[in-house]
Amino acid sequence: MKHAPTHAPPASLDALCFDNSYARLPFAFHTRLAPAPLPSPVLVCASAPAMRLIGIDPAEAARPQFVDAFAGNRMLPGSDPLAAVYSGHQFGSWSGQLGDGRAHLLGGVRTPAGTLELQLKGAGPTPYSRFSDGRAVLRSSIREFLCSEAMHALGVPTTRALCIVGSPLPVQRETVETAAVVTRIAPSFVRFGTFEHFSAADDCGRLLQLADYVIEHFRPWLRDEPQPHAALLADIARSTGEMIAHWQAIGFMHGVMNTDNMSILGLTLDYGPFGFMETFDAGHICNRSDTCGRYAFRSQPRIGLWNLYVLADALGPLIGHPDLTRELVDTHYAPAFDARFGQLMRARLGFATARPGDDDFIGATLGLLQLQRVDYTLFFRTLGELPGIRTREAHGCTGAPVRDQPLRDLFADREACDAWLVRWRARLARDGASDDVRRRAMRRANPRYVLRNWMADAAIRRARDGDFGEVDAVLRCLHAPFDDQPEFAHYAAPAPGRTSGMPVSCSS
Ligand code: AMP
Ligand code: MG
Repeated sequence: MKHAPTHAPPASLDALCFDNSYARLPFAFHTRLAPAPLPSPVLVCASAPAMRLIGIDPAEAARPQFVDAFAGNRMLPGSDPLAAVYSGHQFGSWSGQLGDGRAHLLGGVRTPAGTLELQLKGAGPTPYSRFSDGRAVLRSSIREFLCSEAMHALGVPTTRALCIVGSPLPVQRETVETAAVVTRIAPSFVRFGTFEHFSAADDCGRLLQLADYVIEHFRPWLRDEPQPHAALLADIARSTGEMIAHWQAIGFMHGVMNTDNMSILGLTLDYGPFGFMETFDAGHICNRSDTCGRYAFRSQPRIGLWNLYVLADALGPLIGHPDLTRELVDTHYAPAFDARFGQLMRARLGFATARPGDDDFIGATLGLLQLQRVDYTLFFRTLGELPGIRTREAHGCTGAPVRDQPLRDLFADREACDAWLVRWRARLARDGASDDVRRRAMRRANPRYVLRNWMADAAIRRARDGDFGEVDAVLRCLHAPFDDQPEFAHYAAPAPGRTSGMPVSCSS
């Protein structure tokens, strides 16, 4: 009888052994270089689940060797650090060459989940830093670290984050801040812009080499397709569609959907001035520098398509006529988006099956939330706790059931809430599912906790004073966003004083 594979118990840091497959690509793809030393490094926070993911015992984070390794001060066995080159379109315009201006890819480690690459972000300048310093500040590092781990726990495809190491090293941004290094984890950090780089240089040889590298290492099953490169584009279109469907359903705004920030594996990548929807506003722009609202919440699905057309054009020489490649995107992106968005929204609403009229109901629900300025996360979580059938129970002086009151309280116009609930209950009745089952399912689909800006800000303020306890608390809370966690109840609340709509600076 075959036994299920057993996973090795978490090991010490010394067991981490890297192999950098990207370093084996020719020099045109990257520059090999060591991270710059980070003075007086201190551990700000480590993610225990991320450590386990790469097979390391979370207790290892307490060792000085751990801090040194992820400050970029000590090389780990087998690591072959490099900065990758890529190009890209930023805010709709061609920017030419960009590249890892402050990221060092150490290499991949083998895990039960496949090979995962580790990358230091903020570990000093590279040939692609242009006029910047190659550093990241503590503020943006905490935001990226917390959000990547939060998104993973919410079930959104994303890069992960292992740890943050801080330093007193001053870094000039709008004001003087201090430096930090975040270690990110992903199967690959290849971007749409990596393909654009070689396409723009009319370098078909390298374009082909990159596509074959991606297929061989991350999508090996596509090798057997009649047209592997077309299949790769279709796969990227599908996974990008699914990723953005998750964003729209959970209320996540990326803020800088430039093609150099788009992962070819459909992972949320490069967390900067992101935001989670608080008071629902489909037009919300979370990035203070996005003056035209190119990356507003409601535009994300359309921008995803625009970015995929850019990628399709870049891959064109490997696939065929540009119209054909764009057609491939059309065939795979919107259907993947629609299917996943519908599935996620039906789950958020507690619908067990898909029925005609659901799309209209979802649209009408979002319209109502917009009109009533309701907190997006609280709405669904609160809804999940209401009875799905009208029971014979106490009615308040307005005639509305007392048990609906928590949801009604989120609305300016409570009668609008009552009218919507009548439609919601009528729709639930068509499923005929048990109310208990429905309620449990809704608790798994509707987080109690998302990373509200005020939570990140509070953790950052304390961390700047040398107290990293709140970074740790927010991380622990967000690792189990669907659990009630009464000790973290304060994190479920909207921003004090309704500052939730404040856009975030993209300086990082
Ligand atoms: P982002 O907007 O963070 O995606 O960055 C766009 C480009 O600028 C990428 O090539 C980054 O590597 C580069 N970049 C951003 N900040 C810095 C920095 N402080 N030092 C060097 N390069 C940077
Ligand atoms: Mg970027």
